[in-house]
Amino acid sequence: MAIDFPERVALANLPTPLQRLDRTSDELGVDLYIKRDDLTGAALSGNKVRKLEYLMADARDQGADIVLTCGGEQSNHCRATAVAAAKLGIKSLLLLRTKDPTNPPALGGNILLDKLVGADIVWISYDDYRRRMELFEQHAARLRAEGMTPYVIPEGGSNAMGAWGYIRCMQEIVDQVDGDEPTTIVHACGSGGTSAGLLIGARMLGLSPDQWKLAAINVCDDQNYFVDVINRIASNFSAAPGTFTADDSHLQIIDGYVGRGYAKSRPEELQTLRDLARREAIILDPVYSGKAYFGLTNELPRLSQRIIFLHTGGIFGLFPAAKALSPLL
Ligand SMILES: *Cc1c(COP(=O)(O)O)cnc(C)c1O
Repeated sequence: MAIDFPERVALANLPTPLQRLDRTSDELGVDLYIKRDDLTGAALSGNKVRKLEYLMADARDQGADIVLTCGGEQSNHCRATAVAAAKLGIKSLLLLRTKDPTNPPALGGNILLDKLVGADIVWISYDDYRRRMELFEQHAARLRAEGMTPYVIPEGGSNAMGAWGYIRCMQEIVDQVDGDEPTTIVHACGSGGTSAGLLIGARMLGLSPDQWKLAAINVCDDQNYFVDVINRIASNFSAAPGTFTADDSHLQIIDGYVGRGYAKSRPEELQTLRDLARREAIILDPVYSGKAYFGLTNELPRLSQRIIFLHTGGIFGLFPAAKALSPLL
């Protein structure tokens, strides 16, 4: 079935490669592939770029000259948004969450890139982050009073518009695989947009739930939280009706891998990340793809024989983790 996609701006290098990991397949006794969404671009790398193709097209249609978004201090989404904005010749304003906004973190990883491409950063506390929608409104009102046209992108770019990026990715994956054996797409879930897009894509394409499974490993919050988030996004798509519940036939949210908390790593997660780098030259990030891949290696009995690990990017988040990694190197 042909999907009627909205307009997009070309930001990502698509299609991203689908590669077989031969040595790891042998070691784990499965047929393991990796979908290289870490290769959507260099500074514009990772999963957020696919969402931004649609979000930025919408922003441009609305005449926006500044985009506002938010995230954690090392947010990949905020960095990708800032880079995309610079590429389109508009401004960006990032609300970044940090422990002590009067004493912001050092210029490293994604923060360095945010600054380099000229993003305005507003450091906000964890408390203020909870009322981010209100803060967006205040900043947008101020910018309008200054004669600008702001466009607000929610956390992670995870709304209906952003989800189109992963609807497209679902189609891309289906076009790249051979055969019709059961296949599970394992991926990290942080704000739900990637999972929602893949699910909606699977439904729109009329894929068989017996063949196509999606396994989302949440890196923060819990299963109930993401059932709500994904349901809210999916409810915007009349072409893919049906409520999303915890026992959906396509998408399972596999809870249990948050570990020490969002953006906090356990030694075993970092070890798995290191081992994959050494065995396959695949570089994961500690916050998302590393936890998802650690989950994959622990959940093999629940997964199909053929697995596609969706590498969602995040490499710049690795550099601020150098200290935690050093005992393992
Ligand atoms: C944001 C992010 C994710 C999570 O994707 P969501 O669509 O927010 O659930 C996974 N991996 C990386 C590297 C990310 O930056």
